[in-house]
Amino acid sequence: MEFDKFVIGFEALELGEYNYNFLVDDAFFNDLEYAEIQGGEVIVGAVLRKSERLSQMELNFEGKVAVPCDRCSEDVTLPVSFTESLIVKVGTEDNEDEGLLILDENDIEFDIRHYLYESISLSLPTRRIHSEDGDDKGCDEAILSMLNQDYEKENNDEDNIDPRWSALKNLK
Ligand SMILES: [Zn+2]
Repeated sequence: MEFDKFVIGFEALELGEYNYNFLVDDAFFNDLEYAEIQGGEVIVGAVLRKSERLSQMELNFEGKVAVPCDRCSEDVTLPVSFTESLIVKVGTEDNEDEGLLILDENDIEFDIRHYLYESISLSLPTRRIHSEDGDDKGCDEAILSMLNQDYEKENNDEDNIDPRWSALKNLK
């Protein structure tokens, strides 16, 4: 499959319908410094309908991404599969609405990368942990037991260090 560049020369397009295929892969996430997503491969099929005032873009996301697990912090792979519809409008409004992309009249092209990242990110579940079904082997036990040790150690240290607690105990 041939993939398109993420910058769409919107201004130069004549009214009509255009198809795009974007590849969101490891390199894509590596380029974004703020990326919480560690890597993955998502194919985004998009149809842009350009019309006089309001243009529309339908997008279909299919693939998977890797994010740190909430429990053991090792990568957990999550499926990505959803469709979205985006209104593309030219104007000067300052509107941050989801699903609305405002292009400045002077913008002859737009970069869709930020939008793609945000959409994928928002589609992920808030709780991200390894499951033990299928190919997933669950959390990394070695790391979990290390985290537990740290936790216990911290608690013990607190007991030893904080003299107020000792003082309170002695009051009894
Ligand atoms: Zn885990």
